[in-house]
Amino acid sequence: MKILVVGGGGREHALCWKIAKSPLVEQLWCAPGNAGIADVADCVAIAADDVPALVDFSIENAVDMVVIGPEAPLVKGLGDRLRAIGIAVFGPDAAAAQVEGSKAFTKALCDRANIPTARYGTFTDPASAKAFLDGLEPPYVLKADGLAAGKGVVIPETREEAEAEIDDMMSGRFGDASRTLVIEEFLNGEEASVFALCDGNTAIPLTAAQDHKRAHDGDQGPNTGGMGAYSPTPIAGNAIIRETMDRIILPAVKTLKAEGMPYSGVLYAGLMIGKDGPKLIEFNARFGDPECQILMMRMLSDIVPYLKACADGKIDQMPPISWHASAAVTVVLAAKGYPETYKKGTEIRGVDAANELAQVVVFHAGTKRSDDGHLLANGGRVLNVTAMGSSYRAAIDRAYEAVDLIDWADGFCRRDIGWRALEHSG
Ligand code: AMP
Repeated sequence: MKILVVGGGGREHALCWKIAKSPLVEQLWCAPGNAGIADVADCVAIAADDVPALVDFSIENAVDMVVIGPEAPLVKGLGDRLRAIGIAVFGPDAAAAQVEGSKAFTKALCDRANIPTARYGTFTDPASAKAFLDGLEPPYVLKADGLAAGKGVVIPETREEAEAEIDDMMSGRFGDASRTLVIEEFLNGEEASVFALCDGNTAIPLTAAQDHKRAHDGDQGPNTGGMGAYSPTPIAGNAIIRETMDRIILPAVKTLKAEGMPYSGVLYAGLMIGKDGPKLIEFNARFGDPECQILMMRMLSDIVPYLKACADGKIDQMPPISWHASAAVTVVLAAKGYPETYKKGTEIRGVDAANELAQVVVFHAGTKRSDDGHLLANGGRVLNVTAMGSSYRAAIDRAYEAVDLIDWADGFCRRDIGWRALEHSG
């Protein structure tokens, strides 16, 4: 098969790394890719959200399947355009990608499909938004309806702060994304993510992961795209994964199908796991980044037949995916200053030495090569040092052993990735 992967982050490096191992693959491209992806795929200089150029490339090169990594091209309708011309796509159409593009859409879907989630209201005027707070206990959870680069959720502790936030968000702090607000009850518990492969009609489970969103140790500092992750998760074992499939993923897929918006691709359920079992916090229409990196490390099965079965509506014909029993952990190396301002173009050494360690793969996120071949930082999150081990402790120690071989004066990472897993596993 000739496959095009769309995207250029750590998630897409992991996808390309895994896809490239398949004997079914004759040619693998990645648009736009990065310095690490260039080792396993041919990088094409097309931006991940340049829908017309991606469609043209796919036609000209007789691409058999396009695997869409990030959400932006999904929401822009890349899946629709490719399906319309008969090219197999892994990733939902724009209508189904609204599960990620609009929080109000997902909350209403939860109502229609009877999916457990936080009690909520959707508002377009500040007065009724504020009145809704009467029926809630603090802290309050305020969410911009639209995509706000992972920053559109604010959790004020007091009524006064909540009201000020409502005014601020509704007057356009996140642009149009926050003109509509979802306000919901605060859920207690521990967060985990469950991923499933969907084919428009039904779904099969991948596995669960947990990530660390805050920039600094002890889960302190600003929210980020994710500073590290691990899988499996002590909090979401097989029983929780099954319950998530039965109560959350399958009802969503069946309802979207019945409503003429079949969902195909990976569906990512962000969960709060409390006393009453898993409740849905959010859906995403793509793999998590960096969760994808550990999923690809742990996956034993060839991924390509599964991606194709999703595209072809045949996922129910596939055997369950097999996984390494080992734990996998990924530590994100980011440019100092991330998620605020940071420098680009600083040099990184030692990645080859880190990659030589057994059971370690360094996935690249924001990297590029200088003209003379040096590896340079080219983004906020830059490397994902991913390791497996027979226990969480072994995987974590190995990941940090690899991190310590990387020489990058302008980078930083958290030193406590996986602390919850260690706590649970004693
Ligand atoms: P979201 O973008 O919807 O995933 O929300 C971002 C983060 O806000 C989540 O990862 C949670 O940590 C937190 N959060 C969102 N909704 C709730 C809720 N209803 N109760 C508690 N925490 C929440």
